[in-house]
Amino acid sequence: MERFDIWIAGAGYAGAVTARALAEKGKRVRVFERRDHIAGNAYDCLDEAGVLIHKYGPHIFHTNNKAVFDFLSRFTQWRRYQHRVIANIPRDNPEVVPAHKKTDGRFFFPVPFNLDSLKNAFGEQEGERLGQKLLDAYPAQSQVTILELRQNPDPEIAAIADYVYEHVFVHYTMKQWGQKPEDIDPNTTARVPVFLSRDDRYFQDEFQGMPLEGYTKMFEKMLDHPNIEVRLGVDARPMLAEADGPVIYTGQVDELFDFKFGPLPYRTLDFVFETWQDRDYSAPGMPYPDPDHPLRGGGFYQTHGTVNYTVDRDYTRITEFKHLTGQDLPGVTTIVKEYSRAYTGAEGETPYYAIINPENNALYAKYKAEADKKPQLHLLGRLAEYKYYNMDAIAARALDLAERL
Ligand code: FAD
Ligand code: UDP
Repeated sequence: MERFDIWIAGAGYAGAVTARALAEKGKRVRVFERRDHIAGNAYDCLDEAGVLIHKYGPHIFHTNNKAVFDFLSRFTQWRRYQHRVIANIPRDNPEVVPAHKKTDGRFFFPVPFNLDSLKNAFGEQEGERLGQKLLDAYPAQSQVTILELRQNPDPEIAAIADYVYEHVFVHYTMKQWGQKPEDIDPNTTARVPVFLSRDDRYFQDEFQGMPLEGYTKMFEKMLDHPNIEVRLGVDARPMLAEADGPVIYTGQVDELFDFKFGPLPYRTLDFVFETWQDRDYSAPGMPYPDPDHPLRGGGFYQTHGTVNYTVDRDYTRITEFKHLTGQDLPGVTTIVKEYSRAYTGAEGETPYYAIINPENNALYAKYKAEADKKPQLHLLGRLAEYKYYNMDAIAARALDLAERL
């Protein structure tokens, strides 16, 4: 029987990055992946219309960690892409909205909310004045969180905070988490601060882009090493008893221990994909201010990679993949709508987001203590660590674990 030094459960970022880093140190690595594909939630593939889609929701790579960027860059080239998002909301104060921003009773501003969003919302002059007021109030900061802004006693700043809370955060957060912004982990809404600038990029990290040929191709190259064996469609749990060396587990920790302390709560998402072709499929009300706008009728559904529906609609956001991937495919496009709900553990559901709060963290700590009794078992990844990690953070932790092992 072939001998392996390390066994890994899961072929997402956590599993694949550790597998490669360990293989290059001469370890024989065996990876079990329950799904029939690699790349975890970053998996992408062509849909029936030939559009490159992200099956488990839109993924944009961004990081300030050069070591992570350099490591991944060995397996892919990058497409230069800076993600920009707008909020699409019903117009509720028609007087102040500049005429060119109005379309079908809806209007738009950049998210994260910034000094230009302020002008869209309050009109050119008033927006300018309020923007200056914000800059004066936070002279040494480039951004401020909504929860911080809401603490400000100045009545005009409180009015801005109320506006942003109502038009960006409260309804979106209720849809995404079933709870208000002040009742969820403050680090979650802090991911999307108010920018005290005109920078309208969703992420401001130094390195940002999309793998030129997609994530799955990047993972294929990462896992293509003589010391790595990948077995797809295999649940690792029953196999791990056979392991006689370190095991890296990147799946749900509650499931690993048969839910003995009860299930950890998660949010799941329903992704509804729509493919549009051979017609003018611009989203109703999208801001194409002039009929010659380059995207109108140019094969795109919306102007931006992602449009957040921060006030109404049942879905949180719509993403159009061609903006992200740069795929040149005139006349056809695929979008995805995201609907969030509580994870029940039913067959086929995926636990996408840990629900971080003191009670759930305490439950997680019980499982972690159980895992710590097994010195060969290493929990790594978004599920195994019950944390809200981006791809780069998991890759960094994976490189670090491989180094320690
Ligand atoms: P996963 O990708 O979930 O991989 C874990 C793998 O383990 C899965 O393939 C699973 O099938 C497998 N597995 C589990 N249990 C077992 C078992 N018992 N046996 C065998 N295999 C098992 N991050 C960004 O940086 N930018 C983004 O734009 C971004 N967008 C996102 C959008 C959405 C909708 C979501 C949900 C997440 C997004 N993320 C984004 C976060 C990103 O998905 C994660 O950081 C990353 O996937 C974490 O990698 P992982 O390996 O920990 O987990
Ligand atoms: N958020 C919001 N309105 C927005 C964007 C984000 O209220 O337009 C809040 C919401 O609570 C969300 C969190 O900020 O869950 C983090 O947003 P992010 O876009 O980082 O979420 P992800 O892409 O990870 O789902």
